[in-house]
Amino acid sequence: MSDTSAEFEPLETLPIWTWECSNEGVYTVCSPEISTCLGISPDEVVGQNLRTYRLDSASINRLSEIFQQDAFPAEVDVSFLSAQNAWVPVRMHLFCRRDSSDAKTGYHGFNKVLAQFDHVLPEIETGGYAEPTNGEPAPVTYTTVRGISIIGEEIQTSTQIWSSAGQESALKRKIIFQSAHNKSPAVIAVPFYFGEHGAGILEIIDEDTHRIWNEDDLLLVEDVVKQLALTLENVLLYNVAQQELLQRTRAEEEILRRNVELARLNQIGQELRRLSTQEEIFRYVFDQMQQLIDNRNLIISLYKEENFLWIPVHSEGGVLLPPLERAFGNGIPEYVLRTRNPLLITSQAKAELHNLGIQTPDTIPQSLLAVPMITGERAIGAIILQDFEKENAYNFIHLELLSTIATQVAAALENVSLLEKLQESLNELKELDRLKSQFLANMSHELRNPLNSIIGFSRVIMKGIDGPVNETQIQDLTAIYNSGQHLLNLINDVLDLSKIEAGKMELSIGEVNMAEVIESVMSTASGLIKDKPITLVQKVPDDLPSITADATRVRQVLLNLVSNAAKFTEQGEITIEAAHGQSPEGVREIIVWVTDTGAGIAQDDQKKLFQPFSQVDGSPTRKSGGTGLGLSICKSLIEMHGGRIGIQWSEVGKGSSFYFTLPIAGPPNQKS
Ligand code: ADP
Repeated sequence: MSDTSAEFEPLETLPIWTWECSNEGVYTVCSPEISTCLGISPDEVVGQNLRTYRLDSASINRLSEIFQQDAFPAEVDVSFLSAQNAWVPVRMHLFCRRDSSDAKTGYHGFNKVLAQFDHVLPEIETGGYAEPTNGEPAPVTYTTVRGISIIGEEIQTSTQIWSSAGQESALKRKIIFQSAHNKSPAVIAVPFYFGEHGAGILEIIDEDTHRIWNEDDLLLVEDVVKQLALTLENVLLYNVAQQELLQRTRAEEEILRRNVELARLNQIGQELRRLSTQEEIFRYVFDQMQQLIDNRNLIISLYKEENFLWIPVHSEGGVLLPPLERAFGNGIPEYVLRTRNPLLITSQAKAELHNLGIQTPDTIPQSLLAVPMITGERAIGAIILQDFEKENAYNFIHLELLSTIATQVAAALENVSLLEKLQESLNELKELDRLKSQFLANMSHELRNPLNSIIGFSRVIMKGIDGPVNETQIQDLTAIYNSGQHLLNLINDVLDLSKIEAGKMELSIGEVNMAEVIESVMSTASGLIKDKPITLVQKVPDDLPSITADATRVRQVLLNLVSNAAKFTEQGEITIEAAHGQSPEGVREIIVWVTDTGAGIAQDDQKKLFQPFSQVDGSPTRKSGGTGLGLSICKSLIEMHGGRIGIQWSEVGKGSSFYFTLPIAGPPNQKS
């Protein structure tokens, strides 16, 4: 805290004058310094009465008391009226003069001015604090000077200094001590400082034109000012501490509110991501708006690029109304969509909307909050809250909240529309697939009939049933017959695949002797390898049990594996081996291996062999014929039986071994 007295000029530097007077108290000598102190010449003083000359009534009383009590030496504070009619506080030091017999002969002493007073009032800027006129740097700088004025019984505080004496006091940072004269009121103005930049003037103004201040008044005021400054400093510190505490509490409350809000928004975001239809999203947003913002009326407008239509979803009294279509215009949703900025109207909605060039709706709300829904670069619509009863229903916290929710809703709506599009494409693809399978089934059927005639009649002619045929004719007929058979196999494959894909493949289950099936496939295989140096080997145990399966389909699978082996083997062996045992799940089964010493299949190619249409050598110039359907059909047929199929091993240039398993008890869930 600043020391108030330190701001005043030290008393020691203030001027002093000396004097002497007779036994009767009449001035006999006065030193010339009096003219600097009071503006009076010493000559004027000589002959005047010490106890009354230019003194105020309080000073007169005090002096007469000292003289009555003969209480010398004495020290008394008095007020002297200066030549300019200003009251100057002065401290008098009085001593008695005595002769050798101790009889009183007169008085002498010196007077000291307590506060300096400039006799000429300087020009003062009004309404503020001016720098001292002597050009010296100010000891402190102020932002505001406060005045505390006591007039009569009233105490007033203001940012304006009341009297010119007060202004002067502020300007010079000095005590102004001035009794009433002419029409000017009596004023004591004391500057004081508190806190870092706090400054003030205490002015005591007495409009009683006879008021004369005395030294006691000044001392009292000085004392009061010291206390006042101290108290103000304390108040200031207390206020600062209170303010800081308040700010901290507010900051903590704000952090807490934000945390709660973020947690809620996070939850809303998660919930929105789970919803799968627009309807669900709208309903959820509506519920949230009811809970978070006491909302009366909600509209979600969706902008549909294709046809420039708005689909607002109204809610009134908690009921979600069916969407309405509205033509694109210059309404509220269009405004936020165009500007991509939120719109908050707290009152006078009609004028506000008009100013923004927005077409006013039929019923104008008291308050309105609209935010755009933006996802990525696209604005897809707007969420609008309206209150038809209350002004100021929404504020910036609501705006922030709704903006975040709008972004989440936009993302959720975008997801839903992507999902819908995906579902549509999926359905279209499924339909296309179904049509393709149906077409294939029909076509295969249509192709098989004429083909069967070609195969059948070529065989009849070959056998000579229709009359004798020569060797050349037999060769040509054999070519026709083989090609027909090949074509029939292909068509049968296509038909099987389309039946499997359409879920229409049915098994005709019965007891199957696997040894017999292997035997029959072996004899067919011998025809396939007749021109190649290949040995057919069969390893079938005697105790191989019969199984419950579709004999034709099982034969088809085995023949396919053996045909492939024959196709891709140039020399060596083709072995069919069978065994019985248990599946990894503990189901009794038989297992059949078809092993060859042929081309082998590279590791990478093995993975895709059981997919439809896949061939290791897919080029049109490949040596071996085929459609790439065989293994995929085998896989479906074996799986329909509840078995497994795969490659046991294969090595390029060394050969391959394929296997399949079939449960002995037949397919699971088979209809008996
Ligand atoms: P395809 O009618 O073309 O033979 P598959 O589905 O039966 O159709 O066979 C697919 C492909 O797998 C064949 O084109 C061939 O590249 C390869 N493949 C099948 N079995 C063998 C095998 N035993 N040795 C070598 N490659 C084979």
